[in-house]
Amino acid sequence: MYDIAIIGLGPAGATLARLLSIKYKVIAIDRTTTQTGKCCGGLLSPDAQKILAKFDICLPKDVLADPQIFSVKTIDLDNNIERFYQRFYVNMDRMKFEKFLVSLIPQNIEICKNTTCVKIEKNGKTYTLELKTNGIRRIEKAKIVIGADGANSIVRRTFYKKNKIDKYVAIQEWYENKSNSSFYSCIFDRKITDSYCWTISKDNHYIIGGAFPKKDSITRFELFKAKIRNGGIPLDKYFKREGCYVFMNKGFMSTCTGKNGVYLLGEAAGMISPSSLEGISYSMESAKILAGIINTGLNNIGYRYFTGTLKIRIKLLSKILKMPFMYNRILRKTVMKSGLKAIKK
Ligand SMILES: Cc1cc2nc3c(=O)[nH]c(=O)nc-3n(C[C@H](O)[C@H](O)[C@H](O)COP(=O)(O)OP(=O)(O)OC[C@H]3O[C@@H](n4cnc5c(N)ncnc54)[C@H](O)[C@@H]3O)c2cc1C
Repeated sequence: MYDIAIIGLGPAGATLARLLSIKYKVIAIDRTTTQTGKCCGGLLSPDAQKILAKFDICLPKDVLADPQIFSVKTIDLDNNIERFYQRFYVNMDRMKFEKFLVSLIPQNIEICKNTTCVKIEKNGKTYTLELKTNGIRRIEKAKIVIGADGANSIVRRTFYKKNKIDKYVAIQEWYENKSNSSFYSCIFDRKITDSYCWTISKDNHYIIGGAFPKKDSITRFELFKAKIRNGGIPLDKYFKREGCYVFMNKGFMSTCTGKNGVYLLGEAAGMISPSSLEGISYSMESAKILAGIINTGLNNIGYRYFTGTLKIRIKLLSKILKMPFMYNRILRKTVMKSGLKAIKK
């Protein structure tokens, strides 16, 4: 019997596992294999950098990706406007970042990699987890279950079906880029998506991607690719395609932190910016808050965690309020035309 079972070792789960007190018996489960990684832009925002600074964590050079880019080219295809805006992101290798976070987890935590949680059931006061590793099934029991398992969270789907958030499909393709050209752009085009698309240079590759409504997501991605090709970016040396769900949190009440022994963290809780899709900072921040609460005792966790994350929800609300200025064609045109915060090249 474990005190705590953490499902998912992305930035949220890995941070929680690192911070939990040694007095708890903890199992941490993640289905990731060495081959698979999260479909992600791999940009560490200033907020995420600040949390790492608070943790006194420095990133090893090996986690960084080449090049570091200081501006984003924003392309509004609805209004035919282009602008550059300064950005303070760290370009990194997402898979190496996760491995690094996992490497910081203390040895008392039992880590099960390459293991999928396929079912969770409540039995009296405890939870039974059905796990699969290389096709082999096993059962574990825990008093508390923590869903740090991202947008397709089995924990959220099992226990919080009613707290629904719109899911979009994120698709990225990687292409080799041996030339010296590098770029980071953000593209708005309502014919493709009511969210946005992006291109990022990373370690001798171009990544092109976007977040699309579930219906016709592949067709929309192909349309985006065709526009990229027409824009003169050679997409001839295909490397790989990746995809995942992404929560599109458009309402103040879409976040769900959990109660009665089942709690949600990071993206599983709906903590991701609906405007930029930046989520690593929220995942680490919510993990820090939950660990602080659990470490002081197992009483009343649900209420304390809900109130402890109020600041996060307010911040997410501010992102929701910002959305019309990014996604409404007329408002975006007004902002971009004004040149507000834009830099001249
Ligand atoms: C295309 C795309 C680009 C993005 N770019 C950025 C960016 O540049 N910067 C940024 O800050 N944010 C970005 N985000 C958001 C960011 O990736 C997420 O918000 C963040 O990864 C959430 O962290 P998490 O730990 O909560 O969940 P995740 O990172 O999704 O981790 C969940 C973990 O749970 C595991 N898991 C899931 N289900 C199970 C199961 N049943 N059993 C066992 N394990 C399971 C998964 O293997 C995974 O390791 C992007 C998102 C997308 C989709």
